[in-house]
Amino acid sequence: MSRCDLHMHSTASDGTDRPEALPRLVKDAGLKGFALTDHDTVAGLARCATEAKRLRITFVPGVELSADVATLLPESEDLDASGTLHVLAYFIDPLHEDLLSVCERMQRARATRNPRIVERLAELGISIDYQEVIDLAFDSTPPTTTTEGHTIGRPHIAAVLLKHGYVKSIHEAFALYLGQGAPAYVPRERLTPTEAIETIKAAGGVSVLAHPVQLGVDDATLEHVVSKLAALGLVGIEVSHPDHDVEDIRVFRQLSRRFNLVPTGGSDYHGSSKSIRLGSQRVDMRVIDELRERCPVVRSR
Ligand code: AMP
Ligand code: FE
Ligand code: FE
Ligand code: ZN
Repeated sequence: MSRCDLHMHSTASDGTDRPEALPRLVKDAGLKGFALTDHDTVAGLARCATEAKRLRITFVPGVELSADVATLLPESEDLDASGTLHVLAYFIDPLHEDLLSVCERMQRARATRNPRIVERLAELGISIDYQEVIDLAFDSTPPTTTTEGHTIGRPHIAAVLLKHGYVKSIHEAFALYLGQGAPAYVPRERLTPTEAIETIKAAGGVSVLAHPVQLGVDDATLEHVVSKLAALGLVGIEVSHPDHDVEDIRVFRQLSRRFNLVPTGGSDYHGSSKSIRLGSQRVDMRVIDELRERCPVVRSR
């Protein structure tokens, strides 16, 4: 059966492989198709698409937008709204104005937040230079010799901490300093779920709930959240993901049937910064067709 991996990152966000290097890795993994889903940026899509075409593998342009889960939680319950809500988008037009402006807004929010993290670290006696974080994220090989449009975030800060021996691993950097609840954590502006889904629709794409387990809520609350997202226009749910165990997969598959969502999957490959292999999660190529069939018809730009 021919298979694809619908979740991966490049140097345009916090992956370590350049966008144009991914198609070869996908092909060598024996896959027939893939999607590039960088956090809050479409900057890698064009270069990735060109190389995918050359290697004759199916490429789905994507993006992964972070949103705030708070508005989706049941009001009556005293719930922790700190879980991660990531919305994967597929088949978006990477040049669509609304999508570009949302990505730019997120880049600006990060440009304010990242230096504040560095300040917090300094207060803890850890002195790193933010310029070094930028340099680490910098894509220095042509055709891109800039971080313009690229997403810089905590994983890059973690890499600088690792490089200077402040931590023994990226994981430790998050556990000790950067993760939610850790002393150098600074929140950033997030989209509302409506904004995320509406922007994706406007750009001609479909929305899929990424790694539902990261919402950190119980099954009943998850069902509530998914019903709300479905009402907003969600079309899929990521069932296969390295963070999901057998029981998670069963629950998410059930939700996909209940709310008529396409069950998707992907490795969430980030390159050498994480231990996950590209293609470690793979789904049937037909999933790509199912997602394509659910795309809204948009008037031409
Ligand atoms: P940011 O977008 O700057 O808030 O950083 C979030 C990114 O950090 C996520 O997309 C993950 O790739 C990565 N991340 C979050 N938590 C961890 C962790 N505990 N260990 C390693 N990477 C993490
Ligand atoms: Fe990431
Ligand atoms: Fe994610
Ligand atoms: Zn991801």
